[in-house]
Amino acid sequence: DDIIKLDKVCKVYNPGQPSETEVLHDIDLSLASGEFVALIGPSGSGKSTLLNIIGLLDKPTSGRLMIKGQDTNFLGEAEITRLRGHTIGFVFQYHYLISAFTALENVMMPMLVDRGFPSAEIEKRARDLLIRVGLEKVSGHLAMNMSGGQQQRVAIARALAMQPDLILADEPTGNLDTKSADSVFALMREFNQESGASYLIVTHNMELARRCDRIISVVDGRIDIGRPYA
Ligand code: ADP
Ligand code: ADP
Repeated sequence: DDIIKLDKVCKVYNPGQPSETEVLHDIDLSLASGEFVALIGPSGSGKSTLLNIIGLLDKPTSGRLMIKGQDTNFLGEAEITRLRGHTIGFVFQYHYLISAFTALENVMMPMLVDRGFPSAEIEKRARDLLIRVGLEKVSGHLAMNMSGGQQQRVAIARALAMQPDLILADEPTGNLDTKSADSVFALMREFNQESGASYLIVTHNMELARRCDRIISVVDGRIDIGRPYA
């Protein structure tokens, strides 16, 4: 079963303007349920654009994006928002935590916004997630006072709060030292194996990429089916 399937996806920025640029060309790509995949490629090759499209943060200029068998071209804004909230979890390099909130509050946030969880359950669920990422002792610390590795763990806990089927991570270990990068990566792998959720991880770290089920390489806005660059 495919969690996502892209069919001839193109992306043009600034269409019709002098600065018009096509940055993704005819992307065909699928990701199976439970797959743990690295997305690699040089800077500017289109990885973030591709992740934003798959994550329903941006729309393809043409082509089709299917999520769990649904053609997203036929969904309205409300359905897109719902699908994004319930199916997809995001982990970014610059974490986007709310810095003046505690770790616990950051993890509770998506569940509070969604209102699908009973309020008594929200805090318990957030605490359980923080235990899982090894942060139970600092759950009351403000995000801005935490180390990069700790912040990334909070971001992972938050991404998992809504029990997504797909986690999209854009250089989640990009600004971490080797040891923190390894443990953040290992944590994602562990969650992947437990939950069966799919992971698509943008990384420049070939060591980590090689530990994934598959490596997808993007070069100049195309999937490079040749040898992945090293
Ligand atoms: P990567 O993530 O691989 O570094 P990006 O997807 O960020 O690549 O960028 C691909 C290309 O698209 C780059 O040339 C970048 O400058 C361009 N680009 C990205 N976002 C925009 C945007 N909002 N408007 C115009 N061009 C963009
Ligand atoms: P990355 O390489 O990690 O994708 P960038 O620094 O290329 O990060 O892009 C950061 C932000 O700037 C993104 O939101 C991207 O869409 C935007 N961006 C990148 N290139 C351009 C561009 N040429 N014009 C407008 N926005 C851009």
